[in-house]
Amino acid sequence: MSAVPSAVPPRLVLATHNAHKIGELRSILAPVLPGLDPAAVVGARDVEAPEPVEDGVTFAENALLKARALAAFTGLPAVADDSGLSVDVLGGAPGIFSARWAGRHGDDRANLDLLLAQLSDIAPEHRGARFTCAAALVTPDGFEHVEMGHLVGSLATAPRGDGGFGYDPVLVPEGETRSCAELSPQEKNAISHRGQAFRALVPVIVRALGQ
Ligand code: IMP
Repeated sequence: MSAVPSAVPPRLVLATHNAHKIGELRSILAPVLPGLDPAAVVGARDVEAPEPVEDGVTFAENALLKARALAAFTGLPAVADDSGLSVDVLGGAPGIFSARWAGRHGDDRANLDLLLAQLSDIAPEHRGARFTCAAALVTPDGFEHVEMGHLVGSLATAPRGDGGFGYDPVLVPEGETRSCAELSPQEKNAISHRGQAFRALVPVIVRALGQ
């Protein structure tokens, strides 16, 4: 493992390059692990970890393989998540292919446009869909745990709202009239697949860190 440019030794590593996700995990852990210095929660880039090939066929498998690779590389407990959109009428697709549904990884607008075109003739009552997130913890001694979260809703016929990312502008949560992109970040976190999976994983992380 490469040297970390921080005075605080890392104790938990998160398999993401997204600084926002690292900040989110730090703020979830701070109140439940007061003895854990937030600077001890680092991202994969901080430890110069290589990205593994995501060749699992489920969200849980992909989350686990990312966490396993990072725990093996760093010798630290590692957390990873994998998420995506599953559309009922498409048999669960895009699913694990959500980030590259239109061909190029991470082209949110193209992914959204393709999905809307594919569903253009589908009536509102058949537009059910859900976001799913698998959040995994793997420790270097071989302990593994996965928690799942879901955000169920239906797909609008056109994008709405400026917030969020990915498919947020077309997923309208059950019981809502607004799309996920029209919710505040706090409103979305409170009901989101990622929020649910991470909140469920926190007690497991607390036990693994032994505090
Ligand atoms: P990953 O978990 O970062 O690999 O996300 C996979 C893809 O799923 C993202 O690129 C988005 O297209 C989609 N996705 C996952 N979670 C969300 C969400 O909360 N809102 C919108 N799209 C999402």
